[in-house]
Amino acid sequence: MYTHQEGSSRRDLLKRMAWTGAGLLATTALPATLRADETRADDPLLAPAPTTPREALDALYRGNARFVEGKITAPNRNMERLKEVAAGQKPFAAFLGCADSRVPVEIVFDQGFGDVFVTRIAGNVADAAIIGSLEFGVEVLGAQVLYVLGHSKCGAVSATLKGDAVPGQISTLYQHIRRAAKESGGDLDVAIRRNVQIQAEILSEASPVIARRIADGKLLIAGGIYDLYTGRVQPVDLSKS
Ligand SMILES: [Zn+2]
Repeated sequence: MYTHQEGSSRRDLLKRMAWTGAGLLATTALPATLRADETRADDPLLAPAPTTPREALDALYRGNARFVEGKITAPNRNMERLKEVAAGQKPFAAFLGCADSRVPVEIVFDQGFGDVFVTRIAGNVADAAIIGSLEFGVEVLGAQVLYVLGHSKCGAVSATLKGDAVPGQISTLYQHIRRAAKESGGDLDVAIRRNVQIQAEILSEASPVIARRIADGKLLIAGGIYDLYTGRVQPVDLSKS
């Protein structure tokens, strides 16, 4: 019979193994009942951590499907998880998303504390500070997916397309989006998709750190577009322009 106390002590043990990096070796020596997946599966509020880049990407899309279908589980959002990750974070995905208030990454992918390392900037553009932050997310923290998330009706892309005069430093964003705007033929949806592809290309080519992890099979780069009306994230093929 499962009790809360047993669950906590088992989780403490697994947590220590995970953070010391001894998890793989130690796990093989433990009875089957103490394997991480089964233990975490005891508690629906603590999601099992993906172990490969492909699993990490699948976990994101499964989370978005739950969100769209109104079946969120809000995993990893309790005090137990908060304390677990206070000791050390190991997010399975890193994001470049737009600052738009309607696209909160954790909510639309149904994730919790410590799951996703998120950078957001208007127009989801990979400028130097963003690249540095994402390098930290993948190289130091070990995120296995790097996801570029655009969204429908993006104001930054739309403004770049129009080329309107804007106050302050807003127009500094234009230089990063101009190529996508130019290659879109003036179509906003095309420009938004091209922008995701181009920013992903910049991340994977301009950063030797990110490029090496992709080449080593430790990191998968992916992109998608969030629909403001449906909540669904539609994957973008990064190999096609
Ligand atoms: Zn936007």
